Amino acid sequence: MDMLNKISRSLDTLLREKHTLSAKAQRVAKTERRLIENLSRALSGVGYRLVPVAGSAAGSHAMRNGTGSIKRLSCPKCDRRFAHPLPMARHLSATHGIKKAAAKDALKKATAKVKKAPVRKSA
Ligand SMILES: [Zn+2]
Repeated sequence: MDMLNKISRSLDTLLREKHTLSAKAQRVAKTERRLIENLSRALSGVGYRLVPVAGSAAGSHAMRNGTGSIKRLSCPKCDRRFAHPLPMARHLSATHGIKKAAAKDALKKATAKVKKAPVRKSA
């Protein structure tokens, strides 16, 4: 039947697209890993370590967001919260114009605050 042919052909296309997609995802994951490696090296001097986000291409059972990511870092300059030091550093320099060194300092304070989890309010 002609319809069957059509269906099987579109299925074929779909599968091929899926393949292409997963190949692309793998490439992206690789790039991501390399970037994170570079960043961790850059940040390691401050005592921060970045953990790569488990890519879907790796087929891991990483938490799929939702309850998974807790934003535990808060910007010392505003109310924004961040799950990782990296985006926060980026935010600090982009939004508040804080230079790298100062941003690192702010980050240190932010993480220290998180560890101690103080109850009292402070400016
Ligand atoms: Zn901020």
